[in-house]
Amino acid sequence: MNERHNDKDHDIDEGYGARLTIDLQALADNWRVMRDRSHPARCAAVIKADGYGIGAPEVATTLYAAGCRDFFVATAREGAIIRVYAPQARIFVMNCILPGIEETCRAAELVPVLASMEHVAIWTNACIANGDHPCALQVDTGMNRLGITSEEALSIAGDVTRPAGFSPVLLMSHLACGDTPDHPLNHHQLEAFRAAVGAFDGVEASLSNSAGVLLGPEYRFDLTRPGIMLFGGSVGDGVNTITRPVVTAEARIITIRHAKRGETVSYGATVTLERDSRIAICSIGYADGYPRSLSGSGVPLRNAVRDGAHAFAAGQRLPLLGRVTMDMTAFDITDLPDNTLRAGDFVELFGKNVALDDVARAGGTIGYELLTSLGQRYRRHCLPAENED
Ligand SMILES: *Cc1c(COP(=O)(O)O)cnc(C)c1O
Repeated sequence: MNERHNDKDHDIDEGYGARLTIDLQALADNWRVMRDRSHPARCAAVIKADGYGIGAPEVATTLYAAGCRDFFVATAREGAIIRVYAPQARIFVMNCILPGIEETCRAAELVPVLASMEHVAIWTNACIANGDHPCALQVDTGMNRLGITSEEALSIAGDVTRPAGFSPVLLMSHLACGDTPDHPLNHHQLEAFRAAVGAFDGVEASLSNSAGVLLGPEYRFDLTRPGIMLFGGSVGDGVNTITRPVVTAEARIITIRHAKRGETVSYGATVTLERDSRIAICSIGYADGYPRSLSGSGVPLRNAVRDGAHAFAAGQRLPLLGRVTMDMTAFDITDLPDNTLRAGDFVELFGKNVALDDVARAGGTIGYELLTSLGQRYRRHCLPAENED
């Protein structure tokens, strides 16, 4: 696990240019909110991609303490890593790569989510050879990504010669348009999934990601699978008013420059200053997952999305000036009184004052991508969670 620090001065001592503050209390509370919204279904947690970039060990530990007992990861490797932090939990591996992951699944007691008839055949043979081991079965109901077809599901379910070694503990499917409540595919997928669930008597079922939980009780089945909303992100174009931010990203000011009206800033000289300006040069760039597409001007995206990103400090929004570079980004602090900010101070990139999803939108992307791209150059502070359950 990352060391836990609350002492802000450590950043200065240790030479970091940026930091992430991870509010594990917010994470635990967010899971409880999604748990309550999922009721009477149980609520799992999807913590693939290193817990959406936040740190799978911390995330698993926190959610396990909050009462979560079902986790979903992408790869078997991710599952093996979190096993020690979630000892009694079921851990489902969604990117089922067979042949290949049988040993890891047995050793770390992971449940592979079989996603094709080929997977079913390989897994069944492995169970006949090495003994029974639980699996899950994914049915594709309209996403066209992973899963056997509805017809295949019905044929497996009705197959009386189905070997005892093949014992799914969960039937799952995934919504393609859950973040668009009016999309006709939602209802179509719901009906297709219901048919498959009906054929597998006594097997638990799971359909909904974060967005699906909000679609209504009929989408919840036995187990829900929220991811992004646990981490405070929103689904689709909506504003998330249900869960709260977990991550605050901040960068330190390297220096404050004074530049004259008519001068330009950063590569490509894409922005010309319209007034004498004070500019905070901050230690953050695209190498830190602060995308170049957030640039205030001079990237093709600006034809479609007008404004670049902004940061926040001393109670004000600070517009991003010119292009984001690998390690540095310029923010306009002209509107702040002199000496409000100094070299070494932090500006917030996103978190409590700047919504993750607003930044993502400015860069033509989604909160999921921002979080999972953050990279290794941040000092990570975790604010611990109280255990209430
Ligand atoms: C990533 C993922 C989820 C979680 O989705 P969110 O939109 O983050 O809530 C759930 N189910 C599957 C199959 C996934 O791939």
